[in-house]
Amino acid sequence: MDPSIFDTGKRPVWCPGCGNYSILLALRKALAELEINPERVMIVTGIGCHGRMSEYMKTNTFHTIHGRVLPLATGIKLANPDLLVIGHSGDGDAYAIGMGHFPHAARRNIDIKLIVHDNMIFGLTTGQVTPTTPIGVKTRSTPFGNFEQPLNPILLALASGATFVARGFSGEVEHLKELFKKAIKHRGFAFIDVLQPCVTFYNTYTILRQRVYKLEDTGHDPTDFERAVKLASETERIPIGIFYRINRPILEDAFLHAMNPPPALRQKPADIRKILERFR
Ligand code: SF4
Repeated sequence: MDPSIFDTGKRPVWCPGCGNYSILLALRKALAELEINPERVMIVTGIGCHGRMSEYMKTNTFHTIHGRVLPLATGIKLANPDLLVIGHSGDGDAYAIGMGHFPHAARRNIDIKLIVHDNMIFGLTTGQVTPTTPIGVKTRSTPFGNFEQPLNPILLALASGATFVARGFSGEVEHLKELFKKAIKHRGFAFIDVLQPCVTFYNTYTILRQRVYKLEDTGHDPTDFERAVKLASETERIPIGIFYRINRPILEDAFLHAMNPPPALRQKPADIRKILERFR
């Protein structure tokens, strides 16, 4: 399938060199290589520069309000489990105003994909600090340098029970495409934090190119949770790839069984706890 099938024909208005272009390209290529019918795809975006993905992807799309990508994506998936639901969020959208939703989507293991365009700055509003901005970085809202400890999204996803936890880099488009393909094939909540430099307000391309390395080249076993935690805690070098991946029953299965209890339970008052126990 040609990736252009996912192109709306609209010319992106992102700044030249922005990491969002690579994410858009990698996603189109991943979907095309997996031969996924555009009508089956639902893209949900939040507020931020990433939000324009919903204008540039020729699929079903929903551009929602700030921080509400995951509730929307959850509702859509439960209403129509046949859809491939992909949420796009920024680091401000996902980890600041939308943070209340992230650990719950992860622990529920609903079969949606979350791609966070993590440029460690609010780009759309011209450069303010976000929860992932490193200490010392001067932004419009931290003129003397950021003094708050940044959030570690990979550690948070691991602690929340996510079954697919990965980090990508917009400077590695082919690698990113492969990550997206694996996330799409994963049955459950797949989280990819994409390091996506904002070339206008916080250009990290040079430092990321020096520090990034691929987990696949190290023989990392993605089922090793303790190792994943150690890798996620690295600060000098920056691993990209799949930190952790396991199989666990998804929310939709439990939900559908609860809605359609097996015949033996139909005669009795609905006992959802009993049904859910089958999935433990
Ligand atoms: Fe990209 Fe930053 Fe420009 Fe937004 S402000 S389009 S994130 S380079």
